[in-house]
This record gives sequence, C-alpha cells and structure tokens, in this order.
Amino acid sequence: MIKKVLIIEDEINIARIIKLELEHEGYKVETAENGIIGLEKFSNGQWNLVLLDIMLSKLNGMEVLRRIRTSGDMTPIILLTARDSIPDKVSGLDHGANDYITKPFQIEELLARIRACLRINQMMEEKVDEQILTVANLKVDKKTRIVTRDSTNIELTPREFNLLVYLIRHKNQVLNREQILTHVWGFDYYGDTNVVDVYIRYLRKKIEDSFHFPLIHTVRGVGYVIKE
Ligand code: CA
Repeated sequence: MIKKVLIIEDEINIARIIKLELEHEGYKVETAENGIIGLEKFSNGQWNLVLLDIMLSKLNGMEVLRRIRTSGDMTPIILLTARDSIPDKVSGLDHGANDYITKPFQIEELLARIRACLRINQMMEEKVDEQILTVANLKVDKKTRIVTRDSTNIELTPREFNLLVYLIRHKNQVLNREQILTHVWGFDYYGDTNVVDVYIRYLRKKIEDSFHFPLIHTVRGVGYVIKE
C-alpha cells in the first residue's frame, strides 16, 4: 500500500526537494507551508508519517506536535530541526516526536529514518491488531471475526466489520467521513462520502438497536465517534 507523507515546512525550496525525492521513492506527498495549514491538512487526511519543521510561521512546529499528540493521534512524526538547537530536539522527543533530523541533511539519511519509523509503526499496529477490541460491552475478535455485545453474537458483513474495527481502534476520537472512507474503502475510492453514513446506519442497526445504549455518536458537521 502506498504511504502518505505530509511535509509541514515553510521553506518552500526544502519542502519541494523533499517532496520530489519522496515521490521518486513511491510515497504520496502533500506539503503545507505553515503550522495552521499543516494542522488542517493533518486533521483532514490520513497520513502514514509527518515531517514537521520546528521553526514555522503562524503556529510553530512544537505546538503542532503538541496538538496532534494531545488529540491522541500517534501518527509517526519526524522533526526537522536546526543544527544547534539541542533544546528543541529534547523537547520534541518529550512531546512525542518519533525522531528528528538536523538540517542540512542528506536525503538518504532522511529516507532511512522515514523507513525505520514506518517499520516500527507497522510492527506496533500489527501487535495491536492481534488483540481483542472492545468498547463498553461490545467485543470484536479480529482473528475469529466474532462480534458480540452482552454475549449476543452479531453478524456483520466484511465492510461493516472493517468499519467497526476502524472506529474502535480510534475510539473516543472523532473521525470525519474522508478519514473513514480512506481507511475502510481505500484512498483510491472515488465514490460519494454518503456511503459512510449509509454504512454507519447499517452498523447502528446491528450493534445498537436491540441494546440499551448507543455507542456510535454523530458529531454534527464533523463525523462520527465511537465511545462508551
Ligand atoms: Ca522553517
């Protein structure tokens, strides 16, 4: 699967060079030239990795990092730091950055760090994948694909199942329709985002209708969240 990388960097030339190199390596890349746009693009898309410059206009990189991590999002983030700013590196790692690279850098080194970050992240996700997912009294066994609520078996279609797994893996986190579409239908899906609403309705019917309380909540103007 093609990996998507977001570059948040206000030095247009640097951003452009990195973008070209990454595209050459087969990544799908977008850029943002300040912290505000970066955060916006980040929340409206689904990213495998973020390259984040520290010294940014509008909203600095450290604040962008802090907001992303505070929202509970663990997308790998590599900081681009200036040569002599040790405090930035330390504080960046403390705030949940996965790695940093010092400018100016060799593109080969950046590529290697990106590959390492993605590899570790994939290993962690696979580990998470083995577990049984739960929200309140709803249980999803990813291996046997058995879904139960209050010990009652619930039959789901493969699409409903994938949608439910995606929601639970991001429980308490509001997901917009594009994010859901990208993850459950794949980002090359060109249909209408209404399909998400339709499947949420199917899912609610099955996992909520004969039970006492709802799990999937609509956040008006944004999307959906599953929570206890
Ligand atoms: Ca900068």
